[in-house]
Amino acid sequence: MMNKEIADIFRQIADILEIKDENFFRVRAYRKAAQNIENLTEDLIVLVNEKRLDVPGVGVDLAGKIEELVTTGALKFFEELKKTIPPGLLEIMTIPGIGPKTTKLLFDKLKIDSVSKLEIAAREDKLSSLPGLKEKTQENILQGIELIKQRQGRILLSTALSVAQKILDALKKLKVVEEAVVAGSVRRRKETIHDIDILVTSTKPQTVTDVFTSLPIVKKILAKGDTKSSVIVEGDIQVDLRVVGPESFGAALNYLTGSKAHNIRIRELAKKKGLKINEYGVFREKTNRIVAGKTEHEVYKTVGLCYIEPELREDTGEIEAAADNALPQLVVLTDIKSDLHIHSRWSDGTLSIADMAKAAKAQGYKYMVVSDHSQSLKVAGGLTPKRLKEQIDEIKRLNRSFKDFRILCSAEVDIKSDGSLDFDDDILKELDVVLAAVHSGFKQAKEQLTGRITRAMQNKYVNIIVHPFGRLINERPAYELDFEKILQAACDTNTALEINCYPKRLDLDDIHVKRAKEKGAMLSLGTDSHAQEQLDFMELGVAVARRGWLEKKNLLNCLSSDEFLDKIRKK
Ligand SMILES: [Zn+2]
Ligand SMILES: [Zn+2]
Repeated sequence: MMNKEIADIFRQIADILEIKDENFFRVRAYRKAAQNIENLTEDLIVLVNEKRLDVPGVGVDLAGKIEELVTTGALKFFEELKKTIPPGLLEIMTIPGIGPKTTKLLFDKLKIDSVSKLEIAAREDKLSSLPGLKEKTQENILQGIELIKQRQGRILLSTALSVAQKILDALKKLKVVEEAVVAGSVRRRKETIHDIDILVTSTKPQTVTDVFTSLPIVKKILAKGDTKSSVIVEGDIQVDLRVVGPESFGAALNYLTGSKAHNIRIRELAKKKGLKINEYGVFREKTNRIVAGKTEHEVYKTVGLCYIEPELREDTGEIEAAADNALPQLVVLTDIKSDLHIHSRWSDGTLSIADMAKAAKAQGYKYMVVSDHSQSLKVAGGLTPKRLKEQIDEIKRLNRSFKDFRILCSAEVDIKSDGSLDFDDDILKELDVVLAAVHSGFKQAKEQLTGRITRAMQNKYVNIIVHPFGRLINERPAYELDFEKILQAACDTNTALEINCYPKRLDLDDIHVKRAKEKGAMLSLGTDSHAQEQLDFMELGVAVARRGWLEKKNLLNCLSSDEFLDKIRKK
């Protein structure tokens, strides 16, 4: 847990206490502590571990709470406190300019306990009557809500995929629906998306539109026409539906999938051939006669290209490659033989190794890598060398019981702030695979962070650098790295770089993956699963790999366990 996160929790505690009219000095103590924590130059984790927690303005009580946060990753007091107020109030306080006082006023006088209720009240001019609320405040609140919406406008791919699936499942049940598919940036599998585009073919568009706009997850209808409609669903996500006749399916799918840049290039190619393309089909410019439109393959063929996979449609070379018949044979989920980054109950996972293995086998994998945290990551229950040795014994025992499956021993070893590793070589050499990662000191200078990782790669036992950029989408930016240097070191030392499949991470991202492929670096996929259902995150990692133009041969996960071990032992 980082200083900023701890400071945020203290600030939220102060806000809640203030709403509850608690002692003023107590509220102020939390605020002051939050501020002082943010101004620290050292990580609280280090201070706690070295028993040097002597932060100005932090007394015994708050120091205890910091220690609890650092060592357990949570704070019981905070969790209990949150339950004493409606959850929407905390969200209201994230609106710029709205503090606990206004929140309390809104709740006491108007029973407003969510951002959406607040928005409605402000639009209906109900706030201006409140005592002590300045005239301009209503306007500011609406502006603030817009800001929050923009922030939320970047929806994670995983969320978008599951919402889209729900809608598709419902629409596919209709007799009048022939095809129902997702288009837009979700189909291209971008890491974040703004809205979901659904395409349906039917000869009864009105029926489809009626059902779509009255689905239980729809919160608000933005527009409803014969063939186009737009709604907001739970989670404040916009979903657009387009209904076309079956003869236009391919053209409409191509049009709605984008990207814009890709489509412009396709239209240019069409023009050169005397054709025009829109969402209804491909037409001869002179006669307006339709020449294609039923399938996307057809559409591409009319402009002289072979089919281009949606993940590649960004106008980053795919048109040229298609013209040369040189498109990559993109990796698919069924090529994946292993998950190379899994946690168990031994550190911060929820399942035993045996149960994780059972689940990984059920995914169709032949092997998996158990990579629990190393000792200094106490927040995540990092293993001591002694515990790690016990774990290795357990894995050996489990492996004897499998026929067609294998667990590889590993650890996600912390790269310390100077680039040294959290375990000595005589421990690392006992492992089948070694993963290494940066989990602290994200604010270091670019050279320092780059140096830490390249130094870790020089260790002959380190095989994979996991979540190389340390970003959390919408929460924490990537730390600064000289990626070219990292890539060079990865190639020189035969160290792989991970595409972490965790929905918020997806790190490396597509652009860096593509560059890594060009450089000839080895890449791996790991779900970083801490629970059984998280093994499904592999789909997201494969999406990133495909957006990065990867083929089977670029990914360690497509090798058998023997081939994999052979390859990494070449280091
Ligand atoms: Zn990690
Ligand atoms: Zn991990």
